[in-house]
Amino acid sequence: MTTVRVQLGDRSYDIVVTSADSAGIGTFARGCSRGELAFVISDENVRSLAEAVSVSIRSQSFRTELVVLPSGERQKCLATASQLYDRLAEIGADRRTLVVAVGGGVIGDLGGFVAATFARGLPLLMVPTTLLAMVDSSVGGKVAVNHPKAKNLIGAFHQPAGVWIDTDTLSTLPDREYRSGLAEVVKYGVIFDPELFSYLEANAESILQRNPEAIRHLVAASCRHKAAVVAKDEREETGLRALLNYGHTFAHAFETVGGYGAWLHGEAVAAGMICASRLAERRGLIDRSVTERQRQLLTNFGLPTVPGPWPTDALLATMRSDKKAVSRKLRFVLPTALGAAALYADVAEADVRHVLNHRAP
Ligand code: NAD
Repeated sequence: MTTVRVQLGDRSYDIVVTSADSAGIGTFARGCSRGELAFVISDENVRSLAEAVSVSIRSQSFRTELVVLPSGERQKCLATASQLYDRLAEIGADRRTLVVAVGGGVIGDLGGFVAATFARGLPLLMVPTTLLAMVDSSVGGKVAVNHPKAKNLIGAFHQPAGVWIDTDTLSTLPDREYRSGLAEVVKYGVIFDPELFSYLEANAESILQRNPEAIRHLVAASCRHKAAVVAKDEREETGLRALLNYGHTFAHAFETVGGYGAWLHGEAVAAGMICASRLAERRGLIDRSVTERQRQLLTNFGLPTVPGPWPTDALLATMRSDKKAVSRKLRFVLPTALGAAALYADVAEADVRHVLNHRAP
């Protein structure tokens, strides 16, 4: 078991990374709230995991209420949040009621949003069950639901009281979802951690075979990076947290123009990182070998490394209207070495067009 502390003063919390420990979560939950009631939110694909979590939590003198939602991004909306508020009100939830989000990023974001807003904020225990949620969305306090006009438009910062990661829960995760989550791990390697990057290169096979030790290693390393960033720049004000958007400006364009569902988020991030790395090459920040290593690793993980089949003009138009573009200027996180990156606000459109047109491997 590894514990990573997110240092945020009196809102500090632990991320536990463990394997095959369905019993330990009860004690951990008790450390997150002294209340009597735990409101467990999950989706239909993780029902049995959520039931096991509920059993363990009940052993620590909590009553539990389990809600199982249909799976999918469509649940991340105000209407579902409203149903959850109704249920919380019916069961007499109070400020000490522990919200337990068992699932991927959808359940984490939705459950977190409900926890942030009901009764001005309830303690939240994140129990991520996808690789993406383990290495990214469950840590850092960004919670949200979607608006018909844009993803994550209605949200809050609400740090969890704890994050419990049992890597064994990944055993049922579909392969495509698992590989997609690996893209975010590669991202940490490129922007912060050359050793992690080399580890991924050297252990790609055992990672794909879901070797428990390898998974624990990469999940803990990723959580350490996310925790360090969040501790220094919780609300994305200094530019540090923005580095986590490496590959994401391109990725959002691929996801938007391709239509949600064409590519999973991590797939879009993988191709986006290669585009951003080629931009860095064009500026003379890195040499070609840095892009090539990323391309090889992502290919080994079965992830796309060239832009999808979508028109360059449509992709560019989407990037210009991205909420992260300042006065429609294109901003990109670019690698400056393997293990370092910086934000650039002056990237020429011609260069972006050039890398988007690079469709050969
Ligand atoms: P998801 O929650 O939809 O999960 C993907 C699929 O896997 C779903 O069908 C789910 O039911 C299923 N699943 C989950 N765990 C499983 C398991 N152990 N076994 C079998 N099936 C399982 O998607 P995701 O990729 O985890 O998260 C995507 C969401 O995360 C998006 O809404 C995105 O906006 C959000 N996100 C948030 C942050 C943040 O900082 N808050 C960061 C990145 C992404």
